[in-house]
Amino acid sequence: MAKVPPYLKKRVRQRARVGSLGKDLTRRSRGRCELCEGRSSVRPFELVPFPEEAEMDRSLMACDRCRGWLERGKVDAIEATFLSSAVWSTEPAVQLAAMRLLLLADDPESPWLRDALDAADVDPETGEFR
Ligand SMILES: [Zn+2]
Repeated sequence: MAKVPPYLKKRVRQRARVGSLGKDLTRRSRGRCELCEGRSSVRPFELVPFPEEAEMDRSLMACDRCRGWLERGKVDAIEATFLSSAVWSTEPAVQLAAMRLLLLADDPESPWLRDALDAADVDPETGEFR
């Protein structure tokens, strides 16, 4: 049984402060979810653990479905096929969010996921960049 990764140990409420990045995030994402490109209730989402001040590299725009997955730590593996392209994003926050969701959706031993983790340089134990 895999250990619960630290980024899922407790539910953390999103901070109002991430809103200060709203304009920049909207520009970067063009108003779409940066994970699935969906347009449904797209809002800023900050990855835990939060830095003191909200940062672009720890925040992304995400639709209601993707935010729900990130918050609950549960992913619908069938719906989540878009993650395999999001994981190659050049935006660190998008890459990290996609990686964390993939770790939930996929078998951590799968060769594909291992390659993706290596390429993104993400530690599966911590859910952070190495
Ligand atoms: Zn989405």
